[in-house]
Parts: sequence; structure tokens; C-alpha cells
Amino acid sequence: MSSIGIRLQQVLRAITEATVQAGREPGSVKLVAVSKTVPATLVQEAMDCGHMLFGENYLQEAQEKIPLLGAGPSWHFIGRLQSNKCRDVAALFNMVETVDRLKVAQRLNECAGALDRRLNILVQVNIGEEAQKAGVMPDETGPLLESIAACAHLSCHGLMALPPYFDKPEASRPYFRQLRQLGQQFAHKELFYNNHQVELSMGMSGDYIAAIEEGATIIRVGTAIFGARPQPGDLS
Ligand SMILES: *Cc1c(COP(=O)(O)O)cnc(C)c1O
Repeated sequence: MSSIGIRLQQVLRAITEATVQAGREPGSVKLVAVSKTVPATLVQEAMDCGHMLFGENYLQEAQEKIPLLGAGPSWHFIGRLQSNKCRDVAALFNMVETVDRLKVAQRLNECAGALDRRLNILVQVNIGEEAQKAGVMPDETGPLLESIAACAHLSCHGLMALPPYFDKPEASRPYFRQLRQLGQQFAHKELFYNNHQVELSMGMSGDYIAAIEEGATIIRVGTAIFGARPQPGDLS
């Protein structure tokens, strides 16, 4: 098996173990393999091992890569979203995890309507209330979800967050817990597509075990599967 195949198996095994350990249903956590900067040939290796769910951050990169990989996989958009990219994102992706403002939601709704489809989305919450970070502030999330509920071509399945970065996964735990509580609060108000099964996308390579223990239903893992990405400052 390829090294990607081996790492993928290790991550899948760790997910199952953590899920069962947390008293949750095996299979209740979906793995989005984050393939940003990873060439199509290496994504294909993960597909050859049976993995069919991937995440991309950059539209242009995704537009080049996704057609090379055929109709099998599902793709989540997990990057920053601008209004002028919405049409192409709505056409290319199965889910958009990073909806964080009304303007973008309305634009995606129009574009999905024009394509005669319903688009699956998550609302990204700036759970650490960090100045530079994308995501709607926790106390503005309810009003945004209410506006989105009126968008006929969007199905909002839950919440996504990228908590403040820490070296220790334990430090992310309070943020994961807050996202889960927000999800429960809005499920009570019936603001999601399925209020009995709210998706929580949280946890990356360094902290996905803690995220699963705190209720993640979607984790987004890149480095632990595909290896380290080139850094912006690298000479190459
Ligand atoms: C890159 C990225 C990930 C994956 O990060 P790793 O640490 O490589 O697992 C997850 N979520 C988002 C939003 C990302 O941009």
C-alpha cells in the first residue's frame, strides 16, 4: 500500500477508536481529507484506497484538480469565500463549509437556483472571536441562520469552526464544546436542515481526537494523510 494509503488507514482507525471510546455510533464521524496543494495523482491514491470525500480551499486549484478525478468523490469547499467566486463554487462542490455572511449566502442561493439545485452548506463560526479570522461571531450566528433558512436553494446542515491555534490539542477542547452548544441551541430553534442530526465540522490533524470526543461529525484532516504542505516561504 502507498504511504498515503497507510496514513489514511491509521487516521480511519484512530477515528473509529475515538468514536467508540466516546460512546458514539461507529461511522458517525466523516473524514474530509484536505487535499489543498496536493496533486491529483496523490488524491487518486487515497481514492484507490476507497476514500471519496475531500476538501479544497482554493477555487482555481479545485477547478483544475476536480475534473481530473472523475465523478466518484464528493468535495467540500473549506476556503475563504468571496461573492464573485460563488457561482463556480456552487457548481463544483457538494458542500460549502465556510458560509459566514449574508451576502455570500444570498449569492450562493441565487447561483444554486440558477443551476436548479440545492446546495449543502455549513455556517462557519469565529468561535474564538479572533479579529483576523473568517466566520460569523457567535452572537450573530442565530440571525444569519434565520436568514439562510429563508433561502430556498440552500440546505444548512450545521456549523463549522477553526478554533485558535494551539500546540496542545487539549487547548482546542473548550472551543469545540462551545460550537457543539451553539449547534444544540440552534437545533432547538429548528434552524437546520435536519435538527436531529446537526453537523459539526471541527478538528484537524493536530486535534481531531479531542474534536470527536466533543461531538464532531465532520473532521478535516490534511497533513496527517498527505504529509506536510509546502509553506508559503519555502523556496521551490
Ligand atoms: C488546511 C485546513 C485543514 C487541514 O489542516 P491539517 O492541519 O493539515 O490537517 C482543515 N481545515 C481547514 C479550514 C484548512 O484550511
